[in-house]
Amino acid sequence: MSENLANKIAAGEVVERCSSIVKELVENSIDANATNIVINLFKGGLDKIQVIDDGDGMDANDAHMAFLRHATSKLIHDDDLFFINTMGFRGEALPSIASVSEIEMQTSNGMDSSYIHIKGGEFLEERSGDLRQGTNISVTNLFYNTPARLKYLKAENTELYNVVNLVEKLALAHPNIKFTLTNNDKILIKTSGSDNLLKTIHEIYGLNVSNKMLEFKASDNDFDIYGYICKPEILKSNRNDLNTFVNDRVVKNVEINRAINDAYYTYKPEGKYPVVVLKINTDPTLVDVNIHPTKQDIKLSKINDLYELIYKTIKDVLYNNLLIPNAMRDKSVNIIKDDVIKDIVANMVKSEEKVNVQTELDFVVEENDDAKLELKTSDDALINKEMKSLVLYPVGLALGTYIIAENDEGIYLIDQHAAQERVNYERYMKALRERNVAITTLLIPIKIELSTSEFTLLKENMEVLSSRGFQLEEFGVNTFLVKAHPTWVLEGHEEESIRKIIDLVLTCKDKFDPVKFNESMAITLACKMSIKANYRISPSEQEELLKELVVCDNPYNCPHGRPTIIKFSIYDLERMFKRVMN
Ligand code: ZN
Ligand code: ZN
Repeated sequence: MSENLANKIAAGEVVERCSSIVKELVENSIDANATNIVINLFKGGLDKIQVIDDGDGMDANDAHMAFLRHATSKLIHDDDLFFINTMGFRGEALPSIASVSEIEMQTSNGMDSSYIHIKGGEFLEERSGDLRQGTNISVTNLFYNTPARLKYLKAENTELYNVVNLVEKLALAHPNIKFTLTNNDKILIKTSGSDNLLKTIHEIYGLNVSNKMLEFKASDNDFDIYGYICKPEILKSNRNDLNTFVNDRVVKNVEINRAINDAYYTYKPEGKYPVVVLKINTDPTLVDVNIHPTKQDIKLSKINDLYELIYKTIKDVLYNNLLIPNAMRDKSVNIIKDDVIKDIVANMVKSEEKVNVQTELDFVVEENDDAKLELKTSDDALINKEMKSLVLYPVGLALGTYIIAENDEGIYLIDQHAAQERVNYERYMKALRERNVAITTLLIPIKIELSTSEFTLLKENMEVLSSRGFQLEEFGVNTFLVKAHPTWVLEGHEEESIRKIIDLVLTCKDKFDPVKFNESMAITLACKMSIKANYRISPSEQEELLKELVVCDNPYNCPHGRPTIIKFSIYDLERMFKRVMN
């Protein structure tokens, strides 16, 4: 097999789209200690990808060797492969890219400057160049000699979207490096290389997001984690902005994402994702290196410890910084960035993403009765600890749905359903955590009839129910008798509750996670058992509900993550009525 053919085959693995080329080239620049990396695309990279850096550069010999398979010095040390001082499996990439495209490269190590022109793996020209320092490499005619692969390239916007995403992550991974990304001469990303992570977040996401970020830092024996999470009012509908890094490498790991998602549980609605920049540093030997070079998926030893560390740290930060959404601050919440291209391509890419999304939660609890979510941004001055002393005096009920309350800071609207849902949810969760379940024995057992398959499935999973205080007995064909249930099940709603719980058991068949099961159960029941909108509760009921709400661990969100309280501060009101003019 000729070397060029081998390269073309390797290219199939390394090069899938424009973003994979950008990734390889930029990682080379990072390896070469660049402090300034400029990426210029034309037509999203379909016409041309150019990467210019101010890194170490190469002499003529190294430059030539860089296009030969297995030739790069980076692969000489075995243990060098993945994490130690190098960014990835290098050595295959450049020859592979060169075998399926046309490349022009200028490089200089400060003394020796050279120019190489190579197409389809054939050297067309090699001579001395005029670059002072660093490397300037351009890739054109991508896949010109492999039509089958050419077909896989997507439209300009899709390719561009992927590159933007990648460069954002690379910039977040390396706040010390200045990144510039342009497409058709228009600047899309520019970071300053300030070595300040929050500043880099600001440069990538804009003020609206960077203002809402909360810093965290924690360690255990094996891992150091550091970074920023957003307050729950900034949420996105895909998980692109879960930026996770291990030893400065962009990674994807289901468990890490799960830890983040679980930490936000009940602080955000299902299917919404926060903006997170999470940097994990660890001993490289804990990272599995036997993973496909271009994929960002990694495997980590001690992943359970890492899960715990991330989960606990983020949950604490959220808890300590929770805020009541303020009605009057800026309206653009889910729009993270008014970057034109993001808007253009966001919709079209969504459908693609859905394919990649792995279900993180085994249970998806449906919220069907709540109004459309509209989170507002919050008042930065209030922090959770102070709010623990929150006192709300009910004034009345509006639209049979919102309790109006006041205190000396302003006016509050409280969604009565969401509020009661929160109260019930915490009550159920507390009951479920009790070691000894208090049970109520039924004088008249409840008869539950099921289909044959449901009956069989439930029989196999009876433990789930019995361990939680539900005593069921078989009673004839496909029928169970409920003889006792835990005391916390709301009186008058026993049958409805039990049926809901059985539904949950039946839907979670394969993957049973007791913690999630309890949470799902508590949420489902809390929702069912809470007063609906358009139902007028009495002033004393309003007062009672507010009292119960303010002592909750998280009074500000219903268990689906929607806000329970919206605040109009006195200042907001004065501004609206133009009593104050600024
Ligand atoms: Zn609900
Ligand atoms: Zn809810």
